[in-house]
Amino acid sequence: MANELRFQVVGEAFKKKPLDVKAPSERPCEYFGRKVFNREKMYKYLPKDIYEKMVDVMENGAQLDRTVADAVAVGMMQWAKEQGVTHYTHWFQPLTEGTAEKHDSFIEHDDKAAIEREQNGACSDSAEHEQARTKFKGGMIEEFSGKLLVQQEPDASSFPSGGIRSTFEARGYSAWDPTSPVFIIDDTLIIPTVFISYSGESLDYKAPLLRALKAVNVAATEVCHYFDPTVKKVTSNLGWEQEYFLVDEGLYAARPDLLLTGRTLMGHDSAKNQQMDDHYFGSIPERVAAFMRELEIVALELGIPCKTRHNEVAPNQFELAPIFEETNLAVDHNMLLMSVMKRVARKHGFRVLLHEKPFAGINGSGKHNNWSLSTDNGILLHAPGKTAEQNLRFATFIVETLMGVYRHNGLLKASIMSATNAHRLGANEAPPAIISSFLGRQVSELLDHIERADKDDILSMAGKQGMKMDIPEIPELLIDNTDRNRTSPFAFTGNRFEFRAVGSEANCASAMITLNAAVAEALVDFKKRVDKKISEYSEKPEFSEGSGHNPVYHAIIDVLREDIKTCKPIRFDGNGYSDEWKEEAARRGLDVETSCPIIFERYLDGISIAMFESLGVMTRKELEARNEVKWETYTKKIQIEARVLGDLSMNHIIPVATSYQSALLKNVERMTAAFPAEKAAALNARNLKLIEEIGQRTATIETKVEELVAARKVANKLEDEHKKAIAYHDTIAPMFDTIRYQIDKLELIVDDALWPLPKYRELLFIR
Ligand code: ADP
Ligand code: MG
Repeated sequence: MANELRFQVVGEAFKKKPLDVKAPSERPCEYFGRKVFNREKMYKYLPKDIYEKMVDVMENGAQLDRTVADAVAVGMMQWAKEQGVTHYTHWFQPLTEGTAEKHDSFIEHDDKAAIEREQNGACSDSAEHEQARTKFKGGMIEEFSGKLLVQQEPDASSFPSGGIRSTFEARGYSAWDPTSPVFIIDDTLIIPTVFISYSGESLDYKAPLLRALKAVNVAATEVCHYFDPTVKKVTSNLGWEQEYFLVDEGLYAARPDLLLTGRTLMGHDSAKNQQMDDHYFGSIPERVAAFMRELEIVALELGIPCKTRHNEVAPNQFELAPIFEETNLAVDHNMLLMSVMKRVARKHGFRVLLHEKPFAGINGSGKHNNWSLSTDNGILLHAPGKTAEQNLRFATFIVETLMGVYRHNGLLKASIMSATNAHRLGANEAPPAIISSFLGRQVSELLDHIERADKDDILSMAGKQGMKMDIPEIPELLIDNTDRNRTSPFAFTGNRFEFRAVGSEANCASAMITLNAAVAEALVDFKKRVDKKISEYSEKPEFSEGSGHNPVYHAIIDVLREDIKTCKPIRFDGNGYSDEWKEEAARRGLDVETSCPIIFERYLDGISIAMFESLGVMTRKELEARNEVKWETYTKKIQIEARVLGDLSMNHIIPVATSYQSALLKNVERMTAAFPAEKAAALNARNLKLIEEIGQRTATIETKVEELVAARKVANKLEDEHKKAIAYHDTIAPMFDTIRYQIDKLELIVDDALWPLPKYRELLFIR
């Protein structure tokens, strides 16, 4: 009774050949953005005044009025029709993973369209309307108005809202985000939108992200004015690095755990895995290379600026990284890329695994978020400069970033935490479950200097030339050459910070909302204190005009020195995986909690609510609702895993182990019949041991699965989502390991021909 499915899919996977991917005849820079209604197309398809208005909306956040929206819709529709598009959809990012969309076609009954045109004031008089009605009644036309572009009402009741809608207002609506361009997939025009309830609460990731980006823009622009009064805008930049696994589709289908939970709930280590380090940066396997080629073509056409592709550390693990972009756009592009990856992978006979930890014992996947701030006049605020003034500005932004991260380190951890990412954090790989920041030697020295050197030495008089500052330069070489600390969850890497704790499956918006808000708050607070000091200094005679003393720089240095001292606990350049660090971090007062549902509580801490509310990013009510969703999602994930584990144990593993046990028993019987007692006993010894071991292990599995079911029943009785999530974390999730341990041991002794689930070596090395 060999296991046919497993051998069949393994055999088929081996035979698969790379698909032949036809490269477009143009060069990538020519087909880049072909499917995007970007500026170039706006310029071509919109009247000049409307184009200019749109630029103002996109660049300066100007109000978008209805007549403009109508005119944009007309141009957009024309372009879309030329591309063969028949449908449109609002595209939003609900609090589940991924994106949501509901497609409507452009077609409309002509009489309904005429009535609407009149209601919108598009018909000049009712005679025209009458004419339109009588003339076209009964036919079909294609229509796309500003109203449809700007707002849609998806049937939102089945998206998680943490009870906001049931308590306040039943419906939610999606509203166009004109800062992220519309694009085409297949026959559909896709419109990026925010998703909010009628009472105004956000039900998605984009709305609070846009608010956090605005807050950091306002706060950082004001701080920039100390150094350069011409700065009009500060943009937050994000460059993500997406890690993922590819698994052959047939093998995937034969693993119910992968199919239903995104990870393997069992599977013994492959004899070989990543210990040879031979996969990382190795040559890309052919079938995978074909997949990557096609993925990049599709992504480039959608305006995602893909730049880097390579193998990652674990077998069958890969990475794709684009060039960084404005954060809101980068977030949309990452969401889009994840969905495009899934489609393209299927075409190539693969499934892409975005789960943070699909396989035990080898590296998991993350999504490093490279983040920085830059000004509209081209200054990268997290990059060291050439002059002392520039480096004072650099120090300001580094220190205030650290202040935000220090103050909200627990919240930042909550922002990247999930049932799936929990497998990665704190395990002996990737970032530990403590947020700290690595700066590297030179930046540390710069901060130490500002903190400790004599202030009069730093700000010395220099006669008529005005002030001279003694702030060390940082060689530009550093930018490419930062000594790297791979264990740091928030590392400075030359001209940006790299937030490495973000999970591969996550919507980057969650981390970006918190990080940008935390830094905005730090900058607002910094400015308040600096302004106060400036006004104090300005009254003193030694700061009078022509004294050579600049009250602004004096004030900035004073405040920076305070802050460098305050945020010192967040700076850590050592090994983040060590046990000593856990103790040291606790001593420093950093958040060292490891339980996912408890970490979520940080969102409801007084300092978190105060920060989000004061910046207008989220209200207490929204935060509470979101936490309900987080706890509920956590519970559901563990619940599904528990069910799958129970089913596989009872229906796949135990029957197979038992049938192998029967075969062994039969063998023992026959041996006993064939040989004299003493000889038979000797010959049967090994099999008898195996028979017993199988018996014990299957019995343990059965008992543990029963306990698992019982524990679930107890937890399910809890009505409070918070308590339920804690119960699932504390009592249910830990049982998985015991069951898995027994199954993995059985995998080693049961006849390979009988084993039903593709093994790790097959999942990881067939490509
Ligand atoms: P790594 O060596 O960590 O793999 P890469 O050179 O591949 O880093 O770059 C990672 C990402 O960081 C890319 O998306 C890149 O565009 C982005 N990046 C580079 N500079 C900045 C910056 N100043 N701000 C934000 N992202 C940046
Ligand atoms: Mg990186």
